Amino acid sequence: MDFVNELKKICGSNLLLKKEDLYVYAHDTSQNPDNIILPLAVVFPRNTKEVSDIIKVLNKYNVPCVPRAQGTNHCGGTRLTKKSVVIHFSKMDKIIEIDKNNLIAKVQPNVVIGDLNKELDKLNLFFPPDPSNLAVSTIGGAIALCAGGPRTFKYGNTKDYIINLEVVLADGTIIETSKDLAKNVTGYNITSLFVGSEGTLGIVTQATLKLIPKPEERLLTLSYFDSLENAAKCVNNIINSGFIPSTLDLLDNNTIKTIERFNPCGLLTDKEAVLLIELDGFKSCVKYEQDILKEILIKSDAVNIVQAKNQEENEEIWRARRSAYSAVTQLKPNVVTEDIVVPKSKIVECIKKINEISSKYGIIVCIMGHAGDGNIHPNFALDLSNENEKINFEKLKDELFYYAISIGGTLSAEHGIGMHKKKYLKDALNYGAFDLMLKIKKLLDVKNLINPDKMF
Ligand SMILES: Cc1cc2nc3c(=O)[nH]c(=O)nc-3n(C[C@H](O)[C@H](O)[C@H](O)COP(=O)(O)OP(=O)(O)OC[C@H]3O[C@@H](n4cnc5c(N)ncnc54)[C@H](O)[C@@H]3O)c2cc1C
Repeated sequence: MDFVNELKKICGSNLLLKKEDLYVYAHDTSQNPDNIILPLAVVFPRNTKEVSDIIKVLNKYNVPCVPRAQGTNHCGGTRLTKKSVVIHFSKMDKIIEIDKNNLIAKVQPNVVIGDLNKELDKLNLFFPPDPSNLAVSTIGGAIALCAGGPRTFKYGNTKDYIINLEVVLADGTIIETSKDLAKNVTGYNITSLFVGSEGTLGIVTQATLKLIPKPEERLLTLSYFDSLENAAKCVNNIINSGFIPSTLDLLDNNTIKTIERFNPCGLLTDKEAVLLIELDGFKSCVKYEQDILKEILIKSDAVNIVQAKNQEENEEIWRARRSAYSAVTQLKPNVVTEDIVVPKSKIVECIKKINEISSKYGIIVCIMGHAGDGNIHPNFALDLSNENEKINFEKLKDELFYYAISIGGTLSAEHGIGMHKKKYLKDALNYGAFDLMLKIKKLLDVKNLINPDKMF
């Protein structure tokens, strides 16, 4: 293979070719045991020039590539759809600069978000996007998926914190999308074009991030309800009272029970729903707001309220929330996490519909969501080696996604489309955007070599 010899010249020993090494890079968190395609090679570039040189070689030989970070996406974004070279960024994991005066950080793509925040913590700074698995997932992955997480209600998602990107385009050209300035409307906003593009338009090799001062205090409240309706009503009451909590997450009874079964944390399993409400800001404000919040919760028919008094108690509650996914993985061999978003007013109706469709197809579902954003994550526990269950799950997904679209919602709020939701994309973008997006893809990746068959 001539292209391999050329890649060897660029990457030296930072290249994998043995079948047993390649196998690892054929999988990601998304669950679909079928049609596993091994990479032709995995390359580990050390800098932007090497990424550009790799892309030029692949272009010359018409070999597709799949950019990959930690592979924790839920949409099959790093799965191979044809024989391709995987470009892995583990050797581009440096925090280049943290500039406190200008409130920016410059990072390479494989910086882990949790590690970045540990460094920022020392300077009382904060990068809010939190894809819930922040001990693992990277800036590059978060940019490609426009990841959100539990803090988006107050702080927004990844796109709100990207000031400038260095990108290697499909022909190997290196560009910057903007300058390292807090405001810049000089030309089109092409930074935003690349955020959420799922690695299909170019390869991100460096990012300038917007930082904010770290809130002095963060305190969580757990509020239990006897019905989903009361929990949803409470979400509205909180917002209408002028609060913008940093987190406003909801867990249903199945999720509470599953967490308690596998990762016991003392959650109350006889309640229909629990809201996790985090307030942050100056210490004195948070204490004051916690008291008012408690009054709102009582008026909203909360049946049990637990308020963290310090960081240890806060962490304990977060541990419960973050363990939800791993708890569900213990129910069955596979877990598929979906990510629909609906108007906030339709949350209860939507959760009921998810339960109805799931029981119709005999599939276990544990539902949680970022209630403040109308973003619902049903976690489906499945055995995909069971042909019947697999067929039923496909029918379930069809019903779920078309239902979400029919009530004014859509396919994904923060996990992306990848290969698993692309069959619904045209219907979801039925307001004229689909054709334009396809044109942009064809313009920027003429040979369809950059993460091909994702999204479209
Ligand atoms: C337990 C769990 C909880 C989660 N909770 C949330 C949540 O609450 N909110 C949320 O938003 N997400 C959540 N996620 C999903 C999360 O968005 C992804 O896991 C994460 O952002 C992906 O990061 P990664 O480093 O693993 O990237 P990968 O999975 O390796 O890649 C993700 C995508 O980015 C592309 N890519 C990677 N690097 C580059 C690059 N340098 N240039 C161009 N493209 C690139 C890949 O091709 C792929 O399409 C959760 C995931 C898990 C496992």
